[in-house]
Amino acid sequence: MRPALRPFAACIALLSLAGCIPAGRSPGGGWRPPAESPERFAKCVAMMRAEGSQIDALPDRNFDNGCSATSAVKLVAIGIPVTNLGAVKCTLAAPFARWIREDVTAQATRWLNGYVTRIDSFGSFACRPVNNQAGNRLSEHGRANAIDIAAFRLKDGRRITVKEGWNGDDPQIRGFLRALHKSACGRFSVVLGPEANALHHDHFHFDMGRGPYCR
Ligand SMILES: [Zn+2]
Repeated sequence: MRPALRPFAACIALLSLAGCIPAGRSPGGGWRPPAESPERFAKCVAMMRAEGSQIDALPDRNFDNGCSATSAVKLVAIGIPVTNLGAVKCTLAAPFARWIREDVTAQATRWLNGYVTRIDSFGSFACRPVNNQAGNRLSEHGRANAIDIAAFRLKDGRRITVKEGWNGDDPQIRGFLRALHKSACGRFSVVLGPEANALHHDHFHFDMGRGPYCR
């Protein structure tokens, strides 16, 4: 077996257990991460700032174990505070800021007649394999290219969690979470939620790796 196919084979082997992310439409080849350069990064940072985000550009970091955080930013203010976020690739941070400013705000008004004051995340950068399964390829979290979202705090005190709300009793909350999951699929390469697999029963995972995949 060609080495390039091994991660995909591992994914197939684990599919029934963990519901791996498929390796794209042409397994083993074809997909390449978008090229990065100082110019592209500067352009992305400038675009985010022009759209109203306050961000700090971070120096590139590469780690011995294959993990990296390159072309990444720290989100200082993007409309609604998000907890637990570390480095995020700018090409992910840009659609994330739009999702927050446009989708989260609009769907909270529509479904909950509410105003989101804080979003709780499970983080962005983490050096680990996909689904924490040894042998899987590196998670997009290991490239600062993924964000996990767990809950939304409202001004009226409510805290909407993916864990309790996705299949909860309140149809408005179910509608709110499904609307946000759906809109995310239009913004990110990969979106995983409670329907994807058991590992995502309590959060939405967004990344800009190989896709599209929306579940
Ligand atoms: Zn994730």
